[in-house]
Amino acid sequence: MRSAPLVLILACGLIGCPPASGDSADSDPSDLPLPSYQGPRVVLVLIDGARYTEVLGDPKAAWAPELAALAAQGCAPGPILNLGVTTTKYGTASVHTGIWNAWADANGEYEAHYRYPTHWEYLRSSWDLPPERALYLLPGYDDASVWKPSYHEDYGPEFWPLIVNEGWDDADVVDNFVAALDSQDPVFSMVYLPSVDGAGHDGVWEGYTAAVSEADRLVGVIWRELQARPAYAGNTVLLVTSDHGRHDDEHGGFQDHGCACDGCQQVMFLAVGPGVNPACAPTRAWEQVDIVPTLGALQGYVPDHTEGAVMEGLLLPY
Ligand SMILES: [Zn+2]
Ligand SMILES: [Zn+2]
Repeated sequence: MRSAPLVLILACGLIGCPPASGDSADSDPSDLPLPSYQGPRVVLVLIDGARYTEVLGDPKAAWAPELAALAAQGCAPGPILNLGVTTTKYGTASVHTGIWNAWADANGEYEAHYRYPTHWEYLRSSWDLPPERALYLLPGYDDASVWKPSYHEDYGPEFWPLIVNEGWDDADVVDNFVAALDSQDPVFSMVYLPSVDGAGHDGVWEGYTAAVSEADRLVGVIWRELQARPAYAGNTVLLVTSDHGRHDDEHGGFQDHGCACDGCQQVMFLAVGPGVNPACAPTRAWEQVDIVPTLGALQGYVPDHTEGAVMEGLLLPY
């Protein structure tokens, strides 16, 4: 069992602390049971490759009315920035680890993976949660093609999430998520929706925007399914973001991405749910690497490897 880092004990006022080791001089702290997790549940949805101008950056919400409605209830102060490489590997790494570009190819004994501990690992190790309480949902890629959390020596496979890689499209991923709400009782779920990016690369505007609309519909499904369950309603924070955008029209347009233009670097971010400040007003540009520390502030851990910081003002004072 891991003991809580000192900084966490000092900082964990939001939902109470994971174990304070050393409370008794007579017992081995590692024998003390961890308190059960009592904080908010969190669902993180990542829509791969949605350009900001087609989602929350569109004042008419032509393709993303569900996102716009949730943004109006929560905190969505504008785009956050991918200041790393604006591809899926590196963008998801920044979201999942709080470290820029922390992704590694398969090599030797290791499959393709994130190079630093992920939010799943921090959460499970801090609260001694079993894997099924922290989910990683994505379509039915063969297992070897799923980018794994880290092999970091202090975290690693012992703290990986339950990986649910089943189905074919975004709707299947959400179906699996809804089923898991009832079968696994997750504290944290990460829902990966890849289809917008694929449709963008196909280069047909109508196909791309249709995929945006479908992802938007599915976020609405996720929110309503959460509100329909007493264990989740009023106790779940939903975050929605993307790994990267797509070129703005001055840099090649929606078909591709990968450069440092505004279209590629600016991605949506919204948070809605209990404890989220609808009047949030960032005093700096929030970045993808801020997501992991912010998740930690929500769920009672302090990531010890991040390059980001908690999104100040996102959460109401506790
Ligand atoms: Zn991507
Ligand atoms: Zn670009």
